[in-house]
Amino acid sequence: MLIDSHAHLGSLEDIDQAVQNAADNSVSYIINMSSDLPSAHQTLGFTEKYSGVYGAVGIHPHEAKTYSPLVFSEISSLTSNNKIVAVGETGLDYYYDFSPREIQKESLQKHIELSIETNLPIVIHVRDCEDDVKEMLKENSCKQLQGVIHCFTGDYESALLYIELGFYISFSGILTYKRSKDLRDVARKLPLERILVETDSPYLAPVPYRGKKNQPAYVKYVAETLAEVTDKSFEQVSEITTNNCKELFGIP
Ligand SMILES: [Zn+2]
Ligand SMILES: [Zn+2]
Repeated sequence: MLIDSHAHLGSLEDIDQAVQNAADNSVSYIINMSSDLPSAHQTLGFTEKYSGVYGAVGIHPHEAKTYSPLVFSEISSLTSNNKIVAVGETGLDYYYDFSPREIQKESLQKHIELSIETNLPIVIHVRDCEDDVKEMLKENSCKQLQGVIHCFTGDYESALLYIELGFYISFSGILTYKRSKDLRDVARKLPLERILVETDSPYLAPVPYRGKKNQPAYVKYVAETLAEVTDKSFEQVSEITTNNCKELFGIP
């Protein structure tokens, strides 16, 4: 059994089929992310429709320009639903800069506070902004703040720092790409007890589907690569990452 710890079902063409394909490939659970208020409501709908789908509610850094206290209080109210298991995705993205950086930071700070207040883990997106994310996580670090750095592409020292701050490291299809040798070296050295696997569907399809539309069923290719680099069996990696994901998101 596997869990896709990060997907955007709302951006897939045939959602019923994708959820079915996941189940057919032993991907028992999917954690669906939100990007803004409408997609947070949509996420809640998916969790009601599909028994294997859990959700996260939040505002993606690209959409941080839609942040307002009113929007955020509505998003916060959705966390009381018991299939909403995380806050996110949030974070910072200075590569695309689709929202002003100050607003991205304000939004991330509010998500961190919501995560602490609700005791729900936070899902963080990091792109070309590592120093600011590290600083904000250090400033807010406390026992209640837990989460995952999703689609991790950083170096070993950064991964260790995040783990020290209470975070898991999640690997996506990028781990399977030929050029990602350095990332595989990082994965090899990290404790498997702190690693999750994800697809970030419909983006970042792993080899052998690179360049095509991704779907949660393909998380098995990420787990296969992780098994190769850590010299464990596919079954061991599946079991450990599934347990990690259940532990973090409180899934029974
Ligand atoms: Zn992301
Ligand atoms: Zn995402």
